[in-house]
Parts: sequence; structure tokens; C-alpha cells
Amino acid sequence: MEAVQACGGVALVLPAAQSAVREYVEVVDAVVFTGGGDVDPLYFGEEPVSTQRVTPARDAFEISLVRELLAARKPILGICRGLQVLNIAAGGDIYQDLSLPVGNGFLIKHRQNAPGWYPTHWIEVHAGSLLARIWGQARVRVNSFHHQAVRSLAPGFKAAAVASDGVVEAMELEGDGFVLGVQWHPELMWAKDTYQRQLFASLVEAAERRKTQVRS
Ligand code: MN
Repeated sequence: MEAVQACGGVALVLPAAQSAVREYVEVVDAVVFTGGGDVDPLYFGEEPVSTQRVTPARDAFEISLVRELLAARKPILGICRGLQVLNIAAGGDIYQDLSLPVGNGFLIKHRQNAPGWYPTHWIEVHAGSLLARIWGQARVRVNSFHHQAVRSLAPGFKAAAVASDGVVEAMELEGDGFVLGVQWHPELMWAKDTYQRQLFASLVEAAERRKTQVRS
């Protein structure tokens, strides 16, 4: 909320009321999906594997909200769990636990012990992505506090940045909208880090731009 407000937005918190999803989508100009516990793997057709804290009401609410926002073409910024919710709601899936064998095995540390504001690993930003346009920079350092990650990207989405071990660190909807998910936590970094602040500033700009287009 502080980052959105520092960038000129007006931040509201939405109670997880599934019956209110349609009304929320009419009222808001954009949504930030925050970090949190694990999405119930039932949503991507799997049995639980070292699943941690699950919040059933929040899962159901956020998955509906993502789908309605995508249909309304409203801007989305998904952070950590928010990226995972975005991918699952749009038809993708995730690795349930990065401590289990993934791909060719070797993974860098994605659950740092350093302070939250402190970046601990590099990400490689894909040329031509929305993220590359926001940053104008091919390599950036980010923090890392996740034990899950994207496996299959949802249809219509592409990876926007990867870590050196191949883990998807950012994903976005193809096309010219603003639907971006990041696996790190910019909300812990933006006060000290211009790149992370730019994510929130770009979201607020995209929300404003879309609202102006709809009015005219
Ligand atoms: Mn990471």
C-alpha cells in the first residue's frame, strides 16, 4: 500500500469476499496480489507435496479475481504467491517445492537469510518484455523468499525474467496490457531500490492510462 501511494496511486484493501468479485473489478483500476502461503495444489490437479500454509477462502477469491480482471483487461501486479495465483488461475501450474528435484537439479538459494530489502541473486530480463521496457536493463539483482515457482506457464503468458538456474522470476501476459508477476518481493525493496519502485510506478501509470482510454 505504501509503495502504491508513494507512486501516486490510491490503495485499498479488498476483503476476500468471493461474492463481491464482479463489483470489485468494476470499482478498482488495478490490483496487486501480495505474497502469502501456498495455493491448494487441487487448483492445478495435484496432490499436496510438502504443502505449507493453505488459505482456502483466499485461494478461491484470488483465483476468481484474477480471471475477472483478465477478462476486463485491468492491470495486475502479482508478487510471489501473487505470481503463482496468476499463473494457476490462467491455466498454468507450479513446482510445489523447490527443495525437491527440479529440472536438471542444481538450484541457487531462493529462500534468503539476508534482510528483506537486500537483493541476493541476479535475474536475466528477457529482451522485448514489458519488464525490459520498464527497466531498460538486462540484469537486475532481487531478493528471494520462495519455495515454489512456475513450472508450465499459462497459455498467453511468457517468462519475462529467469534466475541463473532457470527458475522463472517474472512472467507477463503477451500483448500490450499490464499483467505482470514477479517472484521476488519489490514491496520490501522499493524504498531503497529505484528498479523496484518503478514496478509500482508503472502499475499506477498503466491503471491511469487504461482509465483515460475507457473514458475517451
Ligand atoms: Mn528467487
